[in-house]
Amino acid sequence: MANIGFIGLGNMGGPMASNLVKAGHAVKVFDLSADAVAKAVEAGASKAASVGAAASDVEFVVTVLPAGKHVLGVYDGPDGVIAHAKPGTVLIDSSTIDVDSARKAAELARAAGLGVVDAPISGGTAGAAAGTLTFMVGGSEADFASAQPILAGMGSNIIHAGDSGAGQAAKICNNMVLGVSMIAVSEAFMLAKRLGLDAQKLFEVSSKASGQCWALTSYCPVPGPVPTSPANRDYQPGFAVDMMLKDLKLAQQASAASGATTPMGALAESLYALYSNGGNGGMDFSAIVKMLDGEK
Ligand code: NAD
Repeated sequence: MANIGFIGLGNMGGPMASNLVKAGHAVKVFDLSADAVAKAVEAGASKAASVGAAASDVEFVVTVLPAGKHVLGVYDGPDGVIAHAKPGTVLIDSSTIDVDSARKAAELARAAGLGVVDAPISGGTAGAAAGTLTFMVGGSEADFASAQPILAGMGSNIIHAGDSGAGQAAKICNNMVLGVSMIAVSEAFMLAKRLGLDAQKLFEVSSKASGQCWALTSYCPVPGPVPTSPANRDYQPGFAVDMMLKDLKLAQQASAASGATTPMGALAESLYALYSNGGNGGMDFSAIVKMLDGEK
């Protein structure tokens, strides 16, 4: 059993914190949203009054925040995690952020005598609730080994991707595949509709044929074939359009900076930007099927 501070209790962080409680850890939580904190307390966590309080007298601090600026904002400064964590505390950041911010966060933590890993996640809110997330981890061997038992309370696949920032690199590559494949799967369902092919039949065929992929079989963008997918609850997230857009932008920035060629990723970014600009940033990202069907 460990003492854990947990900051960021949104769609992913909320269920992840609950699973740490279920695994027998003592979890102190902080979020800007009082509702999110109340839910975590109901699940057995204790409430911390500030970021600093969540990071004090614990062995681990887990953060699940929107973007790099939030993570650096919470880590740095007199009221931040780094100023309050005791030496030897291991910081686990499971947000999806840019590689440079992840490396900067790691430098700040190490300079203060703390352990640190970037450990972004894949598996969606269903994976967060079931404790079956995949973690891709960047950091030293020693910090990876320290973080592993905590990550095991929230996920079932834990992969050491390399040094600090390598987890984030793996994450943006993975999510570029997801953004592109969700659009491809959505296009196929809209074509099937116009050809008079039943959505369930396309699902039955493609999930057993070469079109099989996670966007289809775990997160189907049309209602019916996968009962747990957001399509069955009016596309409430889940994983919001603006979160996907953020990840696709991170991939394109990294692509431009490294000289990689990623035209499908660039097109996916443009299509998600278009959908977000239509006022849909808060919808689940699978709702892009509606834009492809001609809806605003
Ligand atoms: P979310 O918007 O639901 O949750 C973010 C939480 O952080 C909110 O509760 C917010 O109040 C809190 N927060 C923001 N700034 C804060 C601060 N300064 N101090 C304390 N709390 C603060 O987002 P989410 O969907 O849970 O995603 C979180 C991260 O996980 C993102 O980086 C996202 O890209 C990544 N991710 C999400 C999914 C998914 O399916 N939702 C999947 C994989 C990865």
